[in-house]
Amino acid sequence: MTIDYDRIYVGGEWTLPTSSDKITVSSASTEDILGSVPAATRADVDAAVGAARHAFDDPSGWAQWEPSRRQAALERFAVALVARRDEFVHRVSGQNGMPAKIGKLTEGAVPANIVRYYATLATKLEGEQTRKSLVKGTTVVRKEPLGVVAAIVPWNFPQILSFFKIAPALAAGCTVVLKPASETVLDAFLIAEAAHEAELPPGVLNVIAGSGRVVGDHLVTHPGVDKVGFTGSTEVGQHIGAQCGRLIRPVTLELGGKSAAVVLDDVDADAFTRELFETSLINSGQSCFISTRILLPRSRYTELVEAITETVRQYPVGDPFERSTMIGPLVSSAQRDIVESYIKKGQAEGGRITTGGGRPKGLDRGWYVEPTIIADVDNKAAVSREEIFGPVLALIPYEDDNDAIAIANDSDYGLGGTVWTTDVERGLSVARRVKTGSIGVNGFTLDLGAPFGGVKRSGLGRELGPEGLAAYQQFQSIYLPE
Ligand code: NAD
Repeated sequence: MTIDYDRIYVGGEWTLPTSSDKITVSSASTEDILGSVPAATRADVDAAVGAARHAFDDPSGWAQWEPSRRQAALERFAVALVARRDEFVHRVSGQNGMPAKIGKLTEGAVPANIVRYYATLATKLEGEQTRKSLVKGTTVVRKEPLGVVAAIVPWNFPQILSFFKIAPALAAGCTVVLKPASETVLDAFLIAEAAHEAELPPGVLNVIAGSGRVVGDHLVTHPGVDKVGFTGSTEVGQHIGAQCGRLIRPVTLELGGKSAAVVLDDVDADAFTRELFETSLINSGQSCFISTRILLPRSRYTELVEAITETVRQYPVGDPFERSTMIGPLVSSAQRDIVESYIKKGQAEGGRITTGGGRPKGLDRGWYVEPTIIADVDNKAAVSREEIFGPVLALIPYEDDNDAIAIANDSDYGLGGTVWTTDVERGLSVARRVKTGSIGVNGFTLDLGAPFGGVKRSGLGRELGPEGLAAYQQFQSIYLPE
């Protein structure tokens, strides 16, 4: 049975869209149609932004509530999300092929946790501070919610990336229009169902789907929007950033990555390969922060290439709903074409494929690619410089620590990364020298309480932690000269 919505969620109601056009989504693993939602028009964007604007501007509405009152409403929202946890995982994995075992820990578990985290945090932070003026009298420095937020998200972790925006924005007192990617719309409409059941006030959260070029663009530039929170590709991020620059509109950009795993010469090869999946290949390589360039010391190069190859060769590839599956299909046939073209390019650039390189046998439906290791490339190769977004790792030899750090930093991106060593202090000192927004020593697990974001072409601004709440607030100073 397919899941079909014929309405959009605007102003606290399921309302009829202005066009009968649909976005239809299909399964990444079976290619069967899974369902559809209305394709919003510019008029639907106007209605959604209008509802969010009205809710935000209400003199006794959401933005004016005490944080504790918002927390009570957001707790109801969290409860409604938990009740749908399994359905979120089911929809996400069906649409984008994420192994459900991973989906359970991320897409299923994180949304309610992050809503609760920010709802509580907002009650603890000072809203106003009275400071003795450096000139005369006092100044009241207050934080207020930024306003109406356009939240635009990609398909790879659609739930957690939506809630990296929705949760701090709502906790801060903002109102939101959420626009998911067209590949993953069914789980976004489930968020609307949860918001409706939780009786969030009308207009506080609105959900519409539509093409990036028409609906996304209109949303970003809409005069009723005060802030844009975007996660997606660097190319689209540049475009959105330019639009927001022209409008002097605050924007957070979480973009692409090509992060490095710096494997030091004292590494415990078993400890490193045990964590390789989570830090370099999770979600079939369709993750922004993973370490997809593996820098290996020349002194242990052959041994480590073999260890990595043997590990990756064992990863079960298949149905995302099978418990043993580690690598599922890619999100779409177009994504598979891109990944396969990089594998060819890697070979043409002198890379040696030590495992994978083709399509797995016996999986004739769905967008599968074997997990692939390309060894012996240097940092100039396209597979070392460009984001592939598939299960493909480039192995690059280096001479000494300084050389490894120079290679790690020789990138247009700076989002994640890892350092691997048996000496944590040495690992920390290397990590401090890598130009990146986040990095792990002997592992990488996103901490909801710490800022996450990129440098260089990986983005602008931070999500998560108290810094992620501040991204949805602005300051006002009120001078009292007497
Ligand atoms: P994408 O940039 O193609 O699309 C992202 C979203 O932007 C979608 O909702 C899309 O409809 C919308 N969009 C497209 N054009 C637009 C426009 N002109 N105006 C407004 N909105 C527009 O990205 P994708 O293919 O969905 O996702 C993959 C990319 O996301 C990868 O590059 C990945 O690295 C990045 N990503 C980054 C992070 C991070 O936190 N830094 C996390 C996950 C994914």
